[in-house]
Amino acid sequence: MNETGFSAEQIDTTRAHPARMYDYFLGGQDNYEVDREAAERIMRLLPDIEMAARENRGFLRRATRAVARRGIGQIIDVGTGIPTSPNTHEIARAVNPDVRVAYVDNDPIVSTYAGAKLVNDGNAAFALADLRDPKAVLDSPAVARLIDFGQPVALLLVAILHFVDDAADPAGIVRALTEPLAPGSVLVLSHGTMDFHDPERIDRVREVYADSTANLTPRPRNEIAAYFDGFDIIDPPGLVQPPFWQPDAPVPDDPMLRGLGFYCGVGVKR
Ligand code: SAH
Repeated sequence: MNETGFSAEQIDTTRAHPARMYDYFLGGQDNYEVDREAAERIMRLLPDIEMAARENRGFLRRATRAVARRGIGQIIDVGTGIPTSPNTHEIARAVNPDVRVAYVDNDPIVSTYAGAKLVNDGNAAFALADLRDPKAVLDSPAVARLIDFGQPVALLLVAILHFVDDAADPAGIVRALTEPLAPGSVLVLSHGTMDFHDPERIDRVREVYADSTANLTPRPRNEIAAYFDGFDIIDPPGLVQPPFWQPDAPVPDDPMLRGLGFYCGVGVKR
């Protein structure tokens, strides 16, 4: 047992986990042979996947900074991922040192690392819960302790909803999670899409994820935009690929950057 109470036996190294594959795409060390094999298969199909992961992370960084600058002092980050640098609470605290962050993920390995690297004080906490059970997310100890639903909240659903099958009703899940949020709350969302790639390749990528612990469901732009029901998408930039969401510097004219298979946006609750 480690200090978060999870035994090593719960870390399944027989199947690839999306959190650990994503860590590998980002150049992290917290992954196993099975994850690296699956990730390498995807890298052969989508040579831009590492760039997509990095750019998605750049979106998370810029959007979280923007949220903190709006004066929002509390964040629910669902689909935390394995800690990387900087993490959500570190990004937000650079703007507002008092910001509170409730992290939620369903992967035991994220939970294990969260104890060491994310939950380092009273203003950040991690809960093991599944997005597909939004009530469990909202009732989780981290959210209950840190989030005041009377004030605006930033809900981060960054690179997670494409791991929710249509049968699990992702739109209903987003509605359930955003319903209790006060007006002025923000939804920070990114999502994988097939809009920029050859459909056959995307099918083969989905086959790799089908052998992992979560299926991949990339979605077209209109379905991703629909998750912002009840929110005004901040426009410009609107719903765009990661490099184009409020870039810190002019985006180089690179076809690979224009072809990354993610949409991202930030919406403000009416
Ligand atoms: N949001 C981070 C990490 C994305 S990786 C970023 O964008 O950089 C996707 C994360 O979602 C992984 O950590 C994975 O474990 C988590 N995840 C996938 N399905 C989930 C579910 N149903 N409930 C909770 N977390 C989930």
